[in-house]
Amino acid sequence: MSDHCARDVFSADFLVDLSNVIRTRDSRGRVRGSLTRLERLLNALVSRENDPGVQVYLVADQSLFARGLLPEADRRQLTAWRREGLVEAVDDADERLLELAEATGLPVISADRFRGHRTEYGWLQGNTHQFQEPHVDADGGMTVRPVDMGVVAEWQISRHAEQDQLKKQGLLAGRRRTPRYDILDRMWSCPDNGCTLYDARHGTHVLLPRLRRGVPTCGLHGLELTDDGPRPLIVQLKLLLDGECVERFTCRGETEVPVGRAPSTGISLEPWLSSKEITLVSRHHFSLTLKNGGLWVRDHSTNGTKIAAENGSETRLVPGREYPVKPSDRIMCSPRIALARSGRRFPTELAMDYSRVTSAGGATPTSRIDSH
Ligand SMILES: [Zn+2]
Repeated sequence: MSDHCARDVFSADFLVDLSNVIRTRDSRGRVRGSLTRLERLLNALVSRENDPGVQVYLVADQSLFARGLLPEADRRQLTAWRREGLVEAVDDADERLLELAEATGLPVISADRFRGHRTEYGWLQGNTHQFQEPHVDADGGMTVRPVDMGVVAEWQISRHAEQDQLKKQGLLAGRRRTPRYDILDRMWSCPDNGCTLYDARHGTHVLLPRLRRGVPTCGLHGLELTDDGPRPLIVQLKLLLDGECVERFTCRGETEVPVGRAPSTGISLEPWLSSKEITLVSRHHFSLTLKNGGLWVRDHSTNGTKIAAENGSETRLVPGREYPVKPSDRIMCSPRIALARSGRRFPTELAMDYSRVTSAGGATPTSRIDSH
């Protein structure tokens, strides 16, 4: 199971609300948790994403580690994962999940509707694309389904917010008006000597800062973090064969990365090419570049490169010209072989989405959800 747990949110495909997804009520109404539910969730994601290497970033409430909630073996397992940086444990997992979801654009797996957070995180209202929840089917198998977050009326938000505020015992104060996508663009470090939680150069795994009153803060020491300059862009790429993920690559920095049958540097596709494809895919088929806050592709091939969009439309690239690659796009160099980005979006892309939503006067109400 731990192979699927990312140490670093930058290499994850999903954020998982761990306390939420592993808890159920037994026949007598008592809350019980079990890591078996996480295992089944991971299996469901592997099969739905067609990706045996699917990566999740786990966020859990501290209270999950208390004795009695989980079987003792599971509790020990989870404690070991926390030591290895495979699960982030915080006082308030809801707040942390939403911070991370906002900063990365990653999909969240949770059955929670976060009704008390609609004012601080306006993008939750009417959101139909970023949340998914696990379902146990009649045959006992688990599947993951998209959630319509609905629109929560103002009076309900404040009621839920009050309850959440009590739950947090005044830990959080202040309301941010605009999302802080910019925290992802920078590197941070904690002034406490020896704290490497946020330090990309010294830490074994790097957390995204906590925001307290809109200020990046160390979750452990409570100190305001120091801005260490721009963070080098990183993108995770998946190599898809007939839609199935067979390999993952990390692209970083602003230099061009050649991709093809046998580029002198960069990403070689050779191990996956059929005998027919060896003649179709050029030695240096296309190049990828990370710049201006996004991913760009440039065709260099004999037989052409296409971008397939989420809506099914395909664009054939004009050789030598650069094209932006959106998070849901696939770069095709043969009908069978494609490169796709992981779920994370760049700050510039998130900011564009946000301005689109706010300039349209808020999200369209698609449904209302009842308070209970
Ligand atoms: Zn610290």
